[in-house]
Amino acid sequence: MSEFNFADLHGLRALVTGGNRGIGKAIALRLARAGADIMLNYVGSEDEAQAAVAEIEALGVKAACCYADVSDGAQVEQLFATMVQELGGVDILVNNAGITRDALLLRLSEEDFDAVLATNLRGAFLCMKQASKLMMKQRFGRIINISSVVALRGNAGQVNYAASKAGIIGMTKSLAKELASRKVTVNALAPGFIETVMTASLPEAARSKMLESIPAGRIGQPEDVAAAALFLASKEAAYITGQVLRVDGGMAM
Ligand code: NDP
Repeated sequence: MSEFNFADLHGLRALVTGGNRGIGKAIALRLARAGADIMLNYVGSEDEAQAAVAEIEALGVKAACCYADVSDGAQVEQLFATMVQELGGVDILVNNAGITRDALLLRLSEEDFDAVLATNLRGAFLCMKQASKLMMKQRFGRIINISSVVALRGNAGQVNYAASKAGIIGMTKSLAKELASRKVTVNALAPGFIETVMTASLPEAARSKMLESIPAGRIGQPEDVAAAALFLASKEAAYITGQVLRVDGGMAM
């Protein structure tokens, strides 16, 4: 009897936006370990992105990266063109790139509201549009959008971020309905408090308070989110679409 190899991604090609660090990098490495070729983009350090590419290639798959701001339509189009040229196509899209610009509403500037919506929501929209064209044609695809528990529970000081992450959920469900008949699934992950650069600046008191609200009794690691992404990217998850999977140690039940 042949061994059942769960979540085998050999022959598939995945784009992980913001895959040069944090949760995105953990997802890229996890998908690569399952056999997928990986494309990354970056807006900050090219060296950091090239280092991530080298780490992924060391796992025995193909990897490439290019500069692309996800909020810019022309750059996203170029990112997908580069991926098709380098890896031959797109089977899995993980919309992970995201930013925060936190402030209480009365101090929240229009600029910071727009910047967060542009990267987190418009960015996901632009990437889904490019990916959908290719995935519909090939009658296969996995789109995984990184939302947040903040979309489900709200968070003081994050009106802009919550709006972007709640918007992601609405887009996920709507596109899931549009693409289901083409064998393309669209799901969202809603991570809780995950240890990355994004959360590193939280003061110790706020951190302890946060920990008290997590039934699992620990802060999440990027690898916890990556494991859920792998499952949704797998062929075995073919009948799961339009869902929001919380990866939060029970925080937002
Ligand atoms: P990081 O700040 O560590 O990483 C963010 C990534 O997004 C970086 O790779 C960054 O690239 C990229 N990025 C930012 N802006 C753009 C842009 N305009 N175009 C392209 N790429 C961009 O964050 P995390 O790893 O913590 O978060 C990853 C995702 O998970 C985000 O969407 C975040 O909102 C979400 N999330 C995080 C949680 C947490 O607790 N950490 C909880 C819930 C959700 P570069 O380095 O080149 O700037």
